[in-house]
Amino acid sequence: MQHTLAQAFTLSGKGLHTGLHITATFCPAEENSGIRFVRIDMPQKPEIKALASNVTATERGTVIASQGATISTIEHAMAALMAHGIDNCLIEIDAPEMPILDGSAYFIIQAIKKAGVVAQNAPRQYFEVTEKMEFEHNGSSITFLPNDTFTAEVHVDFNSCILLPQLAVLNSLQDFDNEIAAARTFVFVREIAPLLQHNLIKGGDLDNAIVIYDKEMPQQEVNNLCNLLNIEPIELTNLGYLNRRPLVFENEPARHKLLDIIGDLALIGKPIKGKVIATKPGHTFNTQVAKNILQNNLTK
Ligand SMILES: [Zn+2]
Repeated sequence: MQHTLAQAFTLSGKGLHTGLHITATFCPAEENSGIRFVRIDMPQKPEIKALASNVTATERGTVIASQGATISTIEHAMAALMAHGIDNCLIEIDAPEMPILDGSAYFIIQAIKKAGVVAQNAPRQYFEVTEKMEFEHNGSSITFLPNDTFTAEVHVDFNSCILLPQLAVLNSLQDFDNEIAAARTFVFVREIAPLLQHNLIKGGDLDNAIVIYDKEMPQQEVNNLCNLLNIEPIELTNLGYLNRRPLVFENEPARHKLLDIIGDLALIGKPIKGKVIATKPGHTFNTQVAKNILQNNLTK
């Protein structure tokens, strides 16, 4: 059967890209209504369905839009809802972005567990993988294989001397809370300046992303970045991970990519019954695959 939240819950925090203080309230929703976001800060309170067909941008996060309204960075919430079998949920939000929290799905999962999940009266529909399907683009690939339940395997390779090639595996959605939810998003120091130029990650800091320093940079440049991000200056001496909180898992970046792909493939609008194997996934490719599956009615 389909499921929804037993009661509403609210999460607040900074937006990664806008730096705004944002409040999101996750509410129970009726059968067959799916996952929807509502911009309660806009006059007409426009609603955006969490479907791949509404994806409009994928630069450092998945962005959906409809009726002139936009919501960015939806993927961690989508993954958390999918992992807990929530088919129907209405998310009220007062900004064009979800709060980034600690860069993982940890706090969303804690809130879902506290609120509880209830069965509804309509049967759940699955995207059942009946034969092998392969998608490839620019060295990235996603393969779907028939399987009784959802499992996923993600391989990453960033050509970095600090973040070496990694593998993350999820054998059951029941392991999501313990093995994937707490894996944080990450960024390379060398990417920060171009991202800021694109008006992204203005709310980034050392508490909402793993920051990887893998290519030496003059201290003056680092100071400028800290200044732009409005954070305390950091003295960079050795290459490595810069966070105050150590890595939760040795392969935390690969686990985060697994979290992201669950959230992006949730935009198919139905839970997947099958095995997903992804190599070098990213939001652009993940959501293109989800779009392709929707457009070609591959879920029927
Ligand atoms: Zn992410």
